[in-house]
Amino acid sequence: MNSYSLLIKPIPYPDESAASLLIRAAEANGFSSVYSLCKIQSSSPATTLSSHVTHQKRFRKLLHLLGLSDEYASLAFALSGSTQAMPRKYSKIILKHSFFRKDVHAFCPKCLSEQSYWRRHWLLRPYTVCLKHGTQLYDCCPKCKKALNISRNRINFCLNCEHDLRILPTYSKNSEAIQWFMDTIYHGDQKIINQLSDYWLALEKFDWKSNNIDADHQRIQMAYEYLTNPEQSKKTLIHIINSRVSKAHPQIQAVYFKKQSSILREYANSILANCNHVNQPAINHLKQLFSLDQTRSILDISYTRLKTLIQKEKLATIKNTRGLINISSIDIERLLLDESHKVPLLCPRVQNVAKGDLLTLPEIAGQLQIHKEIVRDLGVKGWLKLDKKKVDGHVKNVALPEIIEEFSKKYISVGTLARQLNVNSTNLADKLKHFGIEPVGGPHIDGLRTNLYQQTDIECITTEMINDLKIYETYTGRPSKKRLKMVHYESDPTLYFSLRHTSSKLHISPSKVAVLVQKGILKKDEHCHSVIRVEKASVSILIEELNRQDFIALEDAAKELGCAINWLHINWIKTGYLKLHDFVYWKFVKTDDIDQVKALQKEYMTAIEASKLLGMHRTHIINLKAQGKIDSISFGESNSLNLYRRQDVLKLLKKQNDGYSFT
Ligand SMILES: [Zn+2]
Ligand SMILES: [Zn+2]
Repeated sequence: MNSYSLLIKPIPYPDESAASLLIRAAEANGFSSVYSLCKIQSSSPATTLSSHVTHQKRFRKLLHLLGLSDEYASLAFALSGSTQAMPRKYSKIILKHSFFRKDVHAFCPKCLSEQSYWRRHWLLRPYTVCLKHGTQLYDCCPKCKKALNISRNRINFCLNCEHDLRILPTYSKNSEAIQWFMDTIYHGDQKIINQLSDYWLALEKFDWKSNNIDADHQRIQMAYEYLTNPEQSKKTLIHIINSRVSKAHPQIQAVYFKKQSSILREYANSILANCNHVNQPAINHLKQLFSLDQTRSILDISYTRLKTLIQKEKLATIKNTRGLINISSIDIERLLLDESHKVPLLCPRVQNVAKGDLLTLPEIAGQLQIHKEIVRDLGVKGWLKLDKKKVDGHVKNVALPEIIEEFSKKYISVGTLARQLNVNSTNLADKLKHFGIEPVGGPHIDGLRTNLYQQTDIECITTEMINDLKIYETYTGRPSKKRLKMVHYESDPTLYFSLRHTSSKLHISPSKVAVLVQKGILKKDEHCHSVIRVEKASVSILIEELNRQDFIALEDAAKELGCAINWLHINWIKTGYLKLHDFVYWKFVKTDDIDQVKALQKEYMTAIEASKLLGMHRTHIINLKAQGKIDSISFGESNSLNLYRRQDVLKLLKKQNDGYSFT
């Protein structure tokens, strides 16, 4: 990319979107499209350009190349990570990326005809009605039905059919829910937004609708009702579920709510209790596939019970193209109707037996050289036949030595294999995949905590083959390069805490822990999708940071410097004197930095301190400066902090006391 200097440099409106500024720049300077303006058409333009207008850091680079002020970078979003799929900051809150439309897609014709630029809030999917005009937004060109996109060079026209987007019929819509949504955002009420987010994500899958503006409008109405009138919201949902029983059993319909959060699980259960009782198969059954976890949740049974149902062929499994195991809604419905999933399949009789040859969990773990929890998991997922027996008065998981011998003849875990071959275990699964060897069980197959291979599959693998392999695809499809962080295929459960455990360690609520994970302050187990598991190492690093001796809490720092927290931000943090160490719920600055500011304060005063000393409003000293009665000295990054010499202020005070008038 070359750096231009544009002849005409557009100035953004405060609420303008990033792509809008680029389209206006292309238009004003006679470029045929935004692509030719950016000259990045050679490198997969659609994705590159849309990531440039989403990601603040990338947008800043682009602005720089176009010779536009990089102050405009804030038109794009601050992302809490490097990919577009990361949550984005909007005003004071963090929103999942799926809450956003693509830039320059949806619009209000009336707003556009008043001022020709794209409003940033049009990017929010719940924003379906213009709050200024009370009319529904359009999310495509209504003439040719094509989606509007970033490549055009005229903000007011459809690129495809050249229709003027300002001249369109408008339809009034109720905007109460949208008003509430925007108010919640501007109040920075993250907790409400998180609840809304959970509800919305479940609803999106529940309602079987596409993501057009009409569907989104209905979703925000329902989310609003859920958060402001939960009883009415339940009635609405019951009505929808009942009206669709010809297509799907209520239990099947409600699964997305049950899986989304514990609050929504309770909500769904209380709804299901009041739905129509169904005792025959759906006439127009809508066939769907569900994961093992979703199936378990629909049938309301344990994982072990589900495994048994599959083993006893009460449920058939279907492997999808990605190798994940699914179960058909038809099979699930059959069980829901005949309730055979609730009938005991085995007779769990706990016998009291002598220890004898029986191996206990720790003994098995020792023999197989794997972690005890993995042995238990192998039992739960049905790979290893463990029996519950009363040994010496205690109920224990045990197995006969023959069983273990047979298991180790047949299977091997990725960790044990790595040890046998004396190679690194973290990328072994990826490397084996390169040789066409797939695990038979694992995190992405049946939720097993480790990858399990069949011995016959790995017979031919040698240490040299693994060590000599330098280029191979990692699980996420990225070619391996040293500088890229390796993707760990396998997660070791001993490295993680549960959300609740982390919450008690940090003395904050689980939802706050989740926020810390979202912000990247705590790391989560990327391979565990059903629940958040927090990396132990990241928790101890955070605790260490929170207890640093050279840190002082922001409130204490403000007290030390004798100013309010907002002025601490304006005078000392923004100017670069104090570096803010921000852990969302804990904010610190360094004591060394405080000492430096104190040294400065001995000789100089801020405008607010000086005015206070003179007994006047804080702008007083600035007026005096304008009149040339006192001089200020610039400090800080880009000279943004103006300070007044203490001596000079004291002189003024003396004059004032002597009866001079400065006004
Ligand atoms: Zn409008
Ligand atoms: Zn069109």
